[in-house]
Amino acid sequence: MTSAALYSQRLSRVRAAMRERSVDALLVSVGHDLPYLIGYHAMPLERLTALVVTASNATLVVPRLEAPRVEHHASVFDLVSWDETHDPIAVTAKLLRDAKCIAVGDQMWARFLVDLLAHLPGRTYVRSVEVVGALRATKDDAEIAALAAAGAAADRVAAQLQRGEIALAGRTEAAVSADISARLLAEGHDVVNFAIVAAGENASSPHHHPGRREIQRGEIVLCDFGGTMNGYCSDITRCVFLGEPPADVQRAWADLRRAQEAGVQAGVVGGTCESVDTAARSVLEDAGWGEYFIHRTGHGIGMEAHEEPYMVHGNLLPIAHGHAFSVEPGIYVPGQWGMRLEDIVVATVDGPQRMNHTPRDLVVL
Ligand code: ZN
Ligand code: ZN
Ligand code: ZN
Repeated sequence: MTSAALYSQRLSRVRAAMRERSVDALLVSVGHDLPYLIGYHAMPLERLTALVVTASNATLVVPRLEAPRVEHHASVFDLVSWDETHDPIAVTAKLLRDAKCIAVGDQMWARFLVDLLAHLPGRTYVRSVEVVGALRATKDDAEIAALAAAGAAADRVAAQLQRGEIALAGRTEAAVSADISARLLAEGHDVVNFAIVAAGENASSPHHHPGRREIQRGEIVLCDFGGTMNGYCSDITRCVFLGEPPADVQRAWADLRRAQEAGVQAGVVGGTCESVDTAARSVLEDAGWGEYFIHRTGHGIGMEAHEEPYMVHGNLLPIAHGHAFSVEPGIYVPGQWGMRLEDIVVATVDGPQRMNHTPRDLVVL
């Protein structure tokens, strides 16, 4: 399929979702709805870039100096570029003038939305996820292939970690984080999104910011990293232990591994997002770690590192073919140690398919 055909198809699906939900216009700016729909990434700037989609039109409003970056598929959308002396809010408001209900992208800056509200009194606003979310969450074959390629690249870095090729003891978490980031790029990622390195008691904070703490022998080292490759994200967590792990850590890892496997196996078409969380959580609860598993089991992944659907208690959304998400249970003992095991999984009619294949052992180095 040509990219113009792909974007036309996505826009017509969005329009169908808009009709279904009585949404008259979609307004997206920075964030990933825009590249998903027309292939263009807006710069996060004080200059407004906005795509307005109505039943009959799609128009990209873009600062003139950025217009050269737009690959303009004239059959898919119109292009309106604005000069520095123009008011892009007025231009955008005009495109939205006939809409009673407007869906707005999550990452639209408040500074633009607040000004737009003044131009468009009496409208109803909903989030763009209402009309784009289900579509973006359901990956097609090309998107699944892109996730698999990004996953394989992250796997290669995880394998380097497990083989002891990334020096740990005596280095700071920040230095190891920079090392992992460089390796993600060397393995083909275009951007590094994060590289969490947390040693010992720092690993009990799930989103620890790698700092100057020096990694020591006798510690667990949690590495959770990912980036974007050809527009799609990777995200993997592996832990290594520098020396022989104590018995409680070994036991916890065995339980964590079973929990993660249970979560992955629950990722079946027709199940619910909640059931993935329940499957992983109940293993840890039964093993006595329930109070130490302090976050949801997973998040959707695609163009964004975290997106719909979320694998969390209370999310009864049925899992569909093409849903891509992380399964990442963890055990966090405050002030002592923490561990997490994470793979990306795509639900398919043939069952859950992992995008990561690096061994899931607590590797001893
Ligand atoms: Zn996270
Ligand atoms: Zn992660
Ligand atoms: Zn994750």
